[in-house]
Amino acid sequence: MNEEYAEKHRRLAVDDKFKFSCHKGLSCFNTCCSDVNIFLTPYDVLRIRESLEVSSGEFLKRYTVALLGDEGIPLVVLKMLEDRNKNCPFVTPDGCGIYRDRPWSCRMYPIFPASPKEDGFSIEERSSCLALKEGKQWTIEEWKKDQGIDIYDMMNESYRQITFHDYFQKGNKLDQGKAKLIYRACYDLDDFRTFLFKTKFFDIYDVEEEVVQKIREDEEDLEEILNFGYRWVRFSLFSEGVLKLKDAEMDKLLRVKR
Ligand code: SF4
Ligand code: SF4
Repeated sequence: MNEEYAEKHRRLAVDDKFKFSCHKGLSCFNTCCSDVNIFLTPYDVLRIRESLEVSSGEFLKRYTVALLGDEGIPLVVLKMLEDRNKNCPFVTPDGCGIYRDRPWSCRMYPIFPASPKEDGFSIEERSSCLALKEGKQWTIEEWKKDQGIDIYDMMNESYRQITFHDYFQKGNKLDQGKAKLIYRACYDLDDFRTFLFKTKFFDIYDVEEEVVQKIREDEEDLEEILNFGYRWVRFSLFSEGVLKLKDAEMDKLLRVKR
């Protein structure tokens, strides 16, 4: 760890407290909402899409850049504006314009996971952030509760089970087709929904009737679609037994193999 990083980031124990109170009266207000790398989780995209009332495809095209991680896993980054400050497209004079649905990392700030692979958190102690010098004291748990993190953690954990799957720990990498499968099933949920209902998917796969019903009715918040997308990825990429073919389809396959 370099010295500059160590100076700015302090590891927090579970009961450690930190001061934080960000508000419009501070001279630094909004300065942290520009020129920043914000990696979006599938659940972040789902929430912002809902906030903006646009399709996932439109949101992804207009507001994000897609990259590939080392293992070929798609990474979705919020695109900053091309203005002088490289502002976040959602910042307004009154603060975050999508506050109710702001991404996980914006909610958690100034707390960060200490590392992607282990539990525990660090705090970023930037001297330019005046919120760290005054106001209420928080433990990590109090902060997470205040910021409505629970549902994000729950939905993100399912995605983490994909991105930290043994498949990758064994050195496997995704080709372009598999990366696209993850992108569609986890990020481009409106497109995934169309795929499910405009193909013979439910004639081929044996999906519980109540799950199909929930997915059919889930046109607005898309949480059921995202949960099913995670399941589809685990079945198609890692051959996990979380889905199965209908008997007739299995018979067809066996006939071809014989
Ligand atoms: S107090 Fe910190 S979090 Fe709030 S606007 Fe200033 S830099 Fe950003
Ligand atoms: S999403 Fe909201 S909180 Fe996050 S950087 Fe943009 S304006 Fe700031």
